[in-house]
Amino acid sequence: MNYIKKNLTDIFIFFILVSVTFLHYLYHFQISLLNFYHLPIMISGYLLGRRLAILYAFFTVLLVWVFILANQSIYHALQDQFQFKIDLTLWGGFLILSGWAGSLSENLRAELRTSDRLRVELAQDKNNLKELNDKLNEANELLAEKVAQRTKELEESHEELKQLSWTDPLTGLFNRRSCEERFQNEINRFKRTQKSFSIILSDIDHFKKINDNYGHNMGDQVLVETARIIKNYSRKTDMVFRWGGEEFLFILTGTEINGGVIVGEKIRRSIEENEFLYNGNNVPVTMSFGVSVYEEGQTMEECIAVADENLYKAKRTGRNRVVSDQIQ
Ligand code: GH3
Ligand code: MG
Ligand code: MG
Repeated sequence: MNYIKKNLTDIFIFFILVSVTFLHYLYHFQISLLNFYHLPIMISGYLLGRRLAILYAFFTVLLVWVFILANQSIYHALQDQFQFKIDLTLWGGFLILSGWAGSLSENLRAELRTSDRLRVELAQDKNNLKELNDKLNEANELLAEKVAQRTKELEESHEELKQLSWTDPLTGLFNRRSCEERFQNEINRFKRTQKSFSIILSDIDHFKKINDNYGHNMGDQVLVETARIIKNYSRKTDMVFRWGGEEFLFILTGTEINGGVIVGEKIRRSIEENEFLYNGNNVPVTMSFGVSVYEEGQTMEECIAVADENLYKAKRTGRNRVVSDQIQ
């Protein structure tokens, strides 16, 4: 359709020429010898193409007419000069006509070739685009997987680091650094719920002597074993911190002072009864405990100070005992 629109003039002239030729045949109603020359003329016109055919026809007709008008001998030699002129003109017409047909079909072929080429190129482009798209999708999936994996790793290592920064490496208990935040949480909970919580500060008795008599390694072993016993006695909701060298702090959630004393007593007895072996021999270890209950309005330091005072009392009054606020 596009092609017809573009070549409308060519087609129009083509039809005029076809009509003129047809009328010529109708007029003469015969096939003269000259008519047989139309075929090679048309073929050469077709091969020459439009522009060359026009030029060729124009000059041929012009030359023949000039020749006829200038040379009266040929004029007379020809029986039917009028017919001859018409034929000559028509030869030119046929030449132009076939030239047009040639150029039309050439254009059409070129256009078809172009559209074929474009179609092939388009198909190739489509294919390439699809391949590219597939590759892009694959790369995207891979990237998303990698990012997810990396994020997971980062989260894990972040969690690990957090745990490490909160944990005492020797005993596996929470360290002192992590105490403040948790203690504050407990105070906030108390403010909301008025639910009591107790704390215990404990210290291994004469620990220096253990180090001195059996060496630092044995001292470490005692610390690890003590931490294990403490963990055994604490509930899931309790928190135990390594407060200092051989000092431990407990936060007993939802526990009144009596409960704190009971827990302290259990741990005290368990440590006293435990066998801390050094070269197959038992090393006696005891621990002193100071208990306090959180009072409304207290700061963390104030609450711990009361427990520390009680611990001091326990040391002063013979060690291996639990002292709470109640005992004065
Ligand atoms: P008291 O009954 O009055 O508490 O006497 P103590 O000897 O336990 O008291 P002191 O606080 O004087 O001694 C604590 C010792 O604990 C001193 C220190 O060398 C030792 N220590 C602190 N941290 C560690 C540790 O991680 N490992 C070992 N083996 N010893 C430690
Ligand atoms: Mg001590
Ligand atoms: Mg101490």
